[in-house]
Amino acid sequence: MSFQALNLIEPIQKALAEEGYSTPTPIQAQAIPAILQGKDLLGVAQTGTGKTAAFAIPTIQLLTQHPVQHRAKRTIKALIVTPTRELAIQIDDSFKAYGRFTGLKHTVIFGGVKQGRQTDVLQDGVDILVATPGRLLDLINQRFITLKDIQVFILDEADRMLDMGFVHDIKKILTFLPAKRQSLFFSATMPPEIQKLADNILYKPVKVEV
Ligand code: AMP
Repeated sequence: MSFQALNLIEPIQKALAEEGYSTPTPIQAQAIPAILQGKDLLGVAQTGTGKTAAFAIPTIQLLTQHPVQHRAKRTIKALIVTPTRELAIQIDDSFKAYGRFTGLKHTVIFGGVKQGRQTDVLQDGVDILVATPGRLLDLINQRFITLKDIQVFILDEADRMLDMGFVHDIKKILTFLPAKRQSLFFSATMPPEIQKLADNILYKPVKVEV
């Protein structure tokens, strides 16, 4: 199978060609069509399987189907929550690479650094936000971020979130999300507590296991 078969828009195909990607990985081949159809997704996959592109590529495509907003009106429409700063930066880099010809704006926030530079970018307006849980809640509470326009919510490495004690933060973040949204949930393993969290977040998900 090739990326051509996935009906991706030209700006994404061009970016993937420049990245040197020719063939979707198994999780990409299964997840991208389901996400483009608007379905919720449960992805059981480890790092290294291409899972970041599996959620980033269709998310970018879904957001381009709405007119790009002017700077002042640009609101966050896709939120990716991931447990560590390192993962957050990698995911943001992926959105940058695959979305470079689309005009969508993205940024990343995480704790352990001063917030000023992060809030400056947010106030300029972004379409896609990648975040670690603590800093996200901090900036929501300070009114730098609203999640009311989120169309796609992605929870990455859910089992690691549990290990790192972030489940309470995740449950708090869920209270700020609109009920009508598409949700994508990724975890390397599915212990009962993670399955319960997934059941809370997802509506009739397509399950992809690689
Ligand atoms: P991930 O599992 O998301 O951490 O991705 C693992 C690595 O595979 C990253 O360095 C990606 O750039 C790369 N990658 C993802 N999808 C593809 C693809 N379809 N073809 C070639 N490389 C890919």
